[in-house]
Amino acid sequence: MKCPVCGDLNSRVINSRGVKDGAEIRRRRSCDACSYRFTTYERAERAYPAVIKKDGRREPWNRDKILSGLSKACEKRPISIDEIEQLADTVGIDINALGHAEISSRIVGEHLMAHLRDLDEIAYVRFASVYRSFKDIDEFMSELTDLVKGRQEIDTQEEHD
Ligand SMILES: [Zn+2]
Repeated sequence: MKCPVCGDLNSRVINSRGVKDGAEIRRRRSCDACSYRFTTYERAERAYPAVIKKDGRREPWNRDKILSGLSKACEKRPISIDEIEQLADTVGIDINALGHAEISSRIVGEHLMAHLRDLDEIAYVRFASVYRSFKDIDEFMSELTDLVKGRQEIDTQEEHD
């Protein structure tokens, strides 16, 4: 692992420990050349399903894309980066558990929204407004009204797919 300070390629591991319930290994390393100490994380690559977009094209699962969408929705909300990352990972685990080789982006979106709704309603509405591409303000307002009424319209959609 290349030292972030001097660029030397040799470092030794001082200690390793599992984090996030063993889903990641955190290693403290020390550069052989300059003794700078840094941390690396090791995570197993999951075989996520391909995501089928509205237009029928497929793209690989993209955690960064999910994170960036969630971050935008959560802007200026009292939600930590950790919570956003956790939400993205939870959705990844959900989607993986469905056991499909491919999954429609709609289902990914529904899962994201369901979890976001539990976390923060404002962020949820923001995300939903982008995700569902509301055509006009009436549609957006009716979504807000539904939220106020507490209607649970996000059910287990994958069962109908
Ligand atoms: Zn170094």
